[in-house]
Amino acid sequence: MDDVEAYLSENADAAIEELKAFCRIESVSTDPAYRSGISAAADFVAERLTRAGFPTVEIIETGGHPAVVAEWCAAPGAPTILVYGHYDVQPPDPLEKWASPPFSPDIRDDRLYARGASDDKGPVMIPILVAEAFAQTRGKPPLNVKMIVEGEEESGSPHLGETIARLKERLAADLVVSADGAMWRADLPSVTVASRGLIALDVTVSGASKDLHSGRHGGSAPNPVRALSRMLASLHDEAGRVAVPGFADDATPPDPAILDAIRASGFDPADYFRAIGAPLPDPLPSAEELLTRQWLEPTLEFNGISGGYSGPGTKTVIPSSASAKITCRLVAGQEPEAVCAAIETHLRRVTPTGYAIEVREHGPGSAAFALDPDEPALAITEDVLEGILGARPLRVAMGATIPIGAVFKEHLGAPLVFFSFSTADEDYHAPNEFFRLDSFRKGLIAWARLFDRLADGLPERATPER
Ligand SMILES: [Zn+2]
Repeated sequence: MDDVEAYLSENADAAIEELKAFCRIESVSTDPAYRSGISAAADFVAERLTRAGFPTVEIIETGGHPAVVAEWCAAPGAPTILVYGHYDVQPPDPLEKWASPPFSPDIRDDRLYARGASDDKGPVMIPILVAEAFAQTRGKPPLNVKMIVEGEEESGSPHLGETIARLKERLAADLVVSADGAMWRADLPSVTVASRGLIALDVTVSGASKDLHSGRHGGSAPNPVRALSRMLASLHDEAGRVAVPGFADDATPPDPAILDAIRASGFDPADYFRAIGAPLPDPLPSAEELLTRQWLEPTLEFNGISGGYSGPGTKTVIPSSASAKITCRLVAGQEPEAVCAAIETHLRRVTPTGYAIEVREHGPGSAAFALDPDEPALAITEDVLEGILGARPLRVAMGATIPIGAVFKEHLGAPLVFFSFSTADEDYHAPNEFFRLDSFRKGLIAWARLFDRLADGLPERATPER
């Protein structure tokens, strides 16, 4: 064990006490009642970064909750990494379901129970402690380290993109390393290399200018519910795949390693349908087909349909309009704007004559995130994880959307790797959130090795795209 790792091991118990102090701060970002907890958590992070040795630490106003930005660029000629994490947490409700109070950290079975312990206070403390360990043993980190720790992740990071854009000279880096994110399963090391993007739109179809009596006008007047139903039905084929022309034309094929991970996953489709409480389809899809659809294919889902009367009893009405809410998960290569346009074009083309249609997009959407399979930093993170966890990690994708992957790429031109030591089963959006202290200790050693390996092996990129 080298000097840095020895220092981290000797100080791990003190580090756990500090993590408990961090977890006592009630930094819920979505609820204004916790405003003082938010500023206390930002202060805590800034103070801890300063004490670790970061020469520049600043609490940055964003228009929402502040972000803490730090820089330690004392390794000329070495690459620069930007570490991302967040200090805000999910609301603790329902309080009565917690075995110990959410903001009174409690250790049981070598697990630290507290709101935010796993997402993301434990994982984000690790790189700060590692930078400090390098300073205490070797005088400074082996590469240039910048950090951005935001306070709005649990509220959808509404100001992160503009903050990064505003600070892009200051945050410029060869690589972004996310201390947020999670391994898929405790017994199976994994790295997330892709996540799907998201767009949302509303479609409204109108017929007559007002609701009509179904006896007086039935059979002659347009019925927007009928028209909309036919239009929506045309968006998928019989197998449930999206049938909009041009929808997935620009999609790029996934990293083949993800398909290997799917095969190695031991995922049971029947268990999956039982777990969601749905009747078993016949034939049952294979694990490969089901996870491919969940992780690697774009989707178009109806989130709600409204029109006419849906209260108790009956009402003999022909509604004047009907509408549907649609969201799509996108894969790499699909441009949010182009996909919205393809859907709108299709809907307009299938709108029956005698009806008006309106399509409204919700915001610009987010593109999918996909790491280049040949990215050198990915191989380095896999080597380090293999050395610590004893098995080569699987490359996995996420069906959900992680906006940060695309946001950093867009504004800094730098790729992002996930290097988080939380695990998806640690109840981080539920009561009794916990963080495995074994993961915390392993994470300290892993980040120390990551710093060293990236210092030697990360190619310095040309000035990031502006
Ligand atoms: Zn998080």
